[in-house]
Order: sequence, then C-alpha cells, then structure tokens
Amino acid sequence: MDTVQDVLRSASGLPGDSPVRDAEILLAHCLGKPRSWLYTWPEAQVSADTLSQFNTLLQRRREGEPVAYLTGRREFWSLDLRVAPSTLIPRPETETLVEWALQLPLPGDARVLDLGTGSGAIALALASERPAWRVSGVDKHAAAVDLARENAQRCELSQVRFQQSDWFSHVEERDFHLLVSNPPYISEGDVHLSQGDLRFEPESALVSAQEGLRDLASLAEQAPAYLCDGGWLLLEHGFDQGAAVRDLLTRYGFEDVATRHDLAGLERISG
Ligand code: GLN
Repeated sequence: MDTVQDVLRSASGLPGDSPVRDAEILLAHCLGKPRSWLYTWPEAQVSADTLSQFNTLLQRRREGEPVAYLTGRREFWSLDLRVAPSTLIPRPETETLVEWALQLPLPGDARVLDLGTGSGAIALALASERPAWRVSGVDKHAAAVDLARENAQRCELSQVRFQQSDWFSHVEERDFHLLVSNPPYISEGDVHLSQGDLRFEPESALVSAQEGLRDLASLAEQAPAYLCDGGWLLLEHGFDQGAAVRDLLTRYGFEDVATRHDLAGLERISG
C-alpha cells in the first residue's frame, strides 16, 4: 500500500498557482482528515478505495475543475462554507469588503443586507463578527438561497435570513444601515472567462453588460431608496472599475465616496 507521502509525490500535473496545496486539500478531503494531519502522518497507509477516489478528483482537477467544487467546501473569513457550482466561490479579495464593513460607525443593532449573496459568505462573515446586527441576504437563484441557508445552519448563524430576490425586487424592508454586494462585474467576452476557475462558475455571478457595469449601476441607483439617512453602500468591483464606480455612487447621491484596495493592492471595493 502507498503512504500519504508516496501518494502526494505522485500527484503531478495540476494546473494553477498552488498545485502542492491543492493535492493536499484533495487527499485530506478523501481521507476525511484536516490537511495538517498529512504532515503529522506522512507514513500512514492510504487504502485502495481512498486512492482511487483521490485519483478521480486529481484527474478532474487536471481538467480544470476548481478545488472548492471538488471538495464542496471553501473557507471564507474563517468560516467553513459549503460551495456548489450554482454559486461563485468566495474569494479572499471579498474579505476586504467585510473588513471595511466592520469598521463603519454603525449602530449596535444595524440592519444589513447582502445583495447577490451566493453561498452567503459576506452576510455570514458579518453576522459572525456582529451577532447583534440584523443581517439578511438575497439572491435571485433559489439554489443559492438554499445553499446560503445551509451555510447559516452549518455556521450556527441561523439568525441570518435569506430570501429569493432579483436585487431589490422582493426586498420589502427599508431603512437599512448598510447594503453590501459582490455583484457580477466582468465584461462579456473578457478573456479571463475562458481561464482557470471562472470557466466552471455560474456566468450570472460573473458577467454583466455595459463593460461589466450594468449591475453595479443598477445597485447604486436603487440603493438610496433602501437606506436610512447616512446609510452605507459597499460594492466590490473589478480592479479597473474604481473610477467608474465612484462616479456612479456620486451620481446617485452618495457622499465622501472612497475606494479600498485588496491584498493584491488593486482597487476593489468602493462605497
Ligand atoms: N473577483 C472575481 C474574479 O475576477 C469576479 C467576481 C465577480 O464578478 N463578482 O475572479
């Protein structure tokens, strides 16, 4: 029988920036252990069944499927979230939005809405840090709403309510203190859509018309009617859309509009 170490050594030819890490995540998943277990027990034997399951996932990874879809899990803001091909895979740059939201001068019981919540990542991260905030999330796809609800249960944050709505179409509450969104913002025909993980993610979570700005514009336009006086809107956008999004926010009456950079130093969140 092969050992953990042998199996990992044989896992060659994976795409992307982190092939070693990806192989480890997949093997740990097949073994039902945390990744750190592999370092503690490099000599442990891997059964034939586990090996064959691992080789199947490895092959799918070689063909480009995102690791998060292969394991059905992704960590975001230290929450262990379920992810599925019906939703975008939460990304580290979106944690910049969460950080900013947590620094805003909001009341202790702030009402917060995450639009296009997908797996529920942003809403759940905020609720995990601010249990007294009244956080809810909407998504236009029923599959996303189901997944977000499952994640709320999983993270023991079932006070977070999720509902189906196409942006504001079914939002009845008003007077939110904070609206947040990571909407689709990639232009139709962008070359990145045929590369890496994006090929496997839902187009509706990625692509927006008008050079990627249509949904950002629609959120900026509709948001003021749903915010209380002095309320905030934080939007994630592409690294080259900062100026355009600041213009949109200013046009729809937001004041002191600013942009924050993600960990890669790129303009990413405006509000
Ligand atoms: N940040 C993602 C990417 O460029 C896109 C996410 C989105 O469109 N909201 O990979």
